[in-house]
Amino acid sequence: MLHMAAVHPNQIRFDANLIRRYDGRGPRYTSYPTALQFTERFTGDEYREFALQSNSSDRPLSLYVHIPFCRSLCYYCGCNKIVTRNQERVSRYLDYLHREISMQAGLFTTSRRVTQLHFGGGTPTYLDAAHLGDLMATLERAFAFAPSSEREFSIEVDPRTVDEQAIRFLASLGFNRLSLGVQDFDTAVQRAVNRMQSEVQVRSLLDAARAAQFKSISFDLIYGLPLQTVSGFERTLDTVIAMRPDRLAVYNYAHLPARFKGQRMIPAEQIPQPDTKLAILQQTITRLSAAGYSYIGMDHFALPDDELVVARRNGSLQRNFQGYATHKRCDLIGLGASAISHVGDSFAQNAVTTQAYEALLDDGRLPILKGLAIDADDLIRADVMQALMCYDSLQYAEFDRRHGIVFADYFRAELERLAVLDRDGLVQLADTHIAVTPRGRLLLRSIAMCFDRHLADADVNERFSKAI
Ligand code: SF4
Repeated sequence: MLHMAAVHPNQIRFDANLIRRYDGRGPRYTSYPTALQFTERFTGDEYREFALQSNSSDRPLSLYVHIPFCRSLCYYCGCNKIVTRNQERVSRYLDYLHREISMQAGLFTTSRRVTQLHFGGGTPTYLDAAHLGDLMATLERAFAFAPSSEREFSIEVDPRTVDEQAIRFLASLGFNRLSLGVQDFDTAVQRAVNRMQSEVQVRSLLDAARAAQFKSISFDLIYGLPLQTVSGFERTLDTVIAMRPDRLAVYNYAHLPARFKGQRMIPAEQIPQPDTKLAILQQTITRLSAAGYSYIGMDHFALPDDELVVARRNGSLQRNFQGYATHKRCDLIGLGASAISHVGDSFAQNAVTTQAYEALLDDGRLPILKGLAIDADDLIRADVMQALMCYDSLQYAEFDRRHGIVFADYFRAELERLAVLDRDGLVQLADTHIAVTPRGRLLLRSIAMCFDRHLADADVNERFSKAI
């Protein structure tokens, strides 16, 4: 595999000055091009063509199911969610979701197995056992699931919505990976963001998940939340490290109250100063590294025997909408309001509001609102991003062979931009390859931005959060 030679699984160097200098706003590149490039010129009919054509490939399928409902509002949240207790509204949404599942399934041949499935939200565990069971049964009837041993089926779990029995139930439905939204164990911080959940609660769910043989258990943490301090977050890290989840995603809180109404509940003066945030990040990296976690890239850490680390070693790691995945490219079918599909060389996004989503299905149409047919140039650029964000390196010779280009000529302007980052120590530009340095690994998005030809069109300050 081309990228592996320069992979240093655990090397990461915290450089506060560099981070301060490069702390600009930018995309997270869970896709390239990013969703900002999607347009309404791309229609459901076009998506249908891409889907039918994709059946000539042997790529397996990956399903993403969006459950937008939550029981209460976490003030920091920037997700597409609906806070409601109205069960009628939930049941109606699920009826439409079942309809969409059967329309989508009709586009794909049953020889294409579903190897990956992810329930995200909102709060997937907002649904009760009957709804979850129905949904899984519909998916399994509509699509051909791969044998259990080849499945990577994951679900986002809000610890406040489940008990040990519910965890066992999720396992019985076939889920074998889960991520728990922890954020911070500090009760003052939890109160400030309106999300109270105890260590005891999380510990009991973790124990239940291990007993139910979930293969990979992930925690989400957030730094930069109101009232967070270095010492408070250190206690959270102590607890987390003692619990030893297989994976950790440590996200930066982006305070954008103009865009996310709920964030207006957070007084600006409660948000830690940039230097405190940096100190929390540094401490997080130091503590997790000392505890044996490898840095995967872009907010993600994993224990050395976790599949993400193995995938990084054997060349099958992928950057995707959930962060990173361990399988080589699948065709991704997004189901539910706002969900994004990535089929063949296309992206398609469903209508974001449940009303618009349901209205399109009422018309007998796929609920796709916008998307993009990815052109040849963006496919090459997306491959550059994958190499840099998954493997921290890119070898020109193999890349040129694969794409029929001469990298140095094709990306002359980009390499000039990257030369500045080379002088600053984020990357090393050699005659044969680009290598991300241990310092640059925390600034992957600044590096990737050099190859993004659409950035000039985007209002970067408005649309994106800061890198750190
Ligand atoms: S953080 Fe999760 S549970 Fe909280 S409001 Fe957002 S989507 Fe809902």
